[in-house]
Amino acid sequence: MSALSIHGVSKVFPGGTTAVDDFSLEVGDGELVCLLGPSGSGKSTVLRMVGGFESPSAGRITIDGEDVTRQSPDRRPTGMVFQSHALWSHMTVFNNIAFGLKLRRLSPAEIRDRVEGVLELVGLTGYGRRMTTQLSGGQQQRVALARSLALEPKILLLDEPFASLDQHLRERLRDEVRDIQLRLKITTLFVTHGQDEALSMADRIVVMRNGRTEQADRPDIVYRNP
Ligand code: ADP
Ligand code: ADP
Repeated sequence: MSALSIHGVSKVFPGGTTAVDDFSLEVGDGELVCLLGPSGSGKSTVLRMVGGFESPSAGRITIDGEDVTRQSPDRRPTGMVFQSHALWSHMTVFNNIAFGLKLRRLSPAEIRDRVEGVLELVGLTGYGRRMTTQLSGGQQQRVALARSLALEPKILLLDEPFASLDQHLRERLRDEVRDIQLRLKITTLFVTHGQDEALSMADRIVVMRNGRTEQADRPDIVYRNP
């Protein structure tokens, strides 16, 4: 069974825009799939539907066999990292990460362990007391990733997480994120319009156009026939 199954999914927004058009995708356990394509091709809408932020107009999305529309928002099996970090600026790094864990009623000791674990994973050991506004853009994105991973999601959803960073940092972070993804073996869906990013990170690339799959293959094959 696939970790994530998207079957015949469409999304028509009020007003009539068909953002996603009969789209299907199976993502295996521990696989990293990149959705690549021009702006407006439906990538973010697919991601938001998998994350449960939008509901499909047609079709079905399941995670480990369970329909995502039936899952309660506070028990989402997905963790999402956005382009702009969306951290809480009035909270410390620790509290940003701990927030969701408190909602799940983990004990203070468990929360501390998890926060320290994910901070170490993203290379920010010792940053717990900092305010997020004191961090660089790259560090803020690492905290956003740590916050998602702390909830131990089954599926990690990344929506252009490096778009606001400069080229050099982008390259560094994509290597770091791929490294973490492989270590945790976490199933990941990654949205980007950067071909470099897709090529260097993905097990498989799905090229989208007009809400549909134009091509889906291993990076070396997609690259050979762009
Ligand atoms: P980006 O391409 O930078 O990811 P988008 O323009 O795709 O940004 O989307 C930003 C936000 O605006 C999303 O929440 C999306 O749902 C919303 N949005 C995008 N296009 C429209 C539209 N035509 N009408 C209303 N909301 C839209
Ligand atoms: P991408 O992520 O590939 O840039 P999106 O999924 O953001 O594409 O958008 C696909 C299409 O759906 C675009 O035409 C966009 O304007 C439209 N769209 C996205 N979100 C909304 C929304 N909330 N309301 C209306 N149209 C939207």
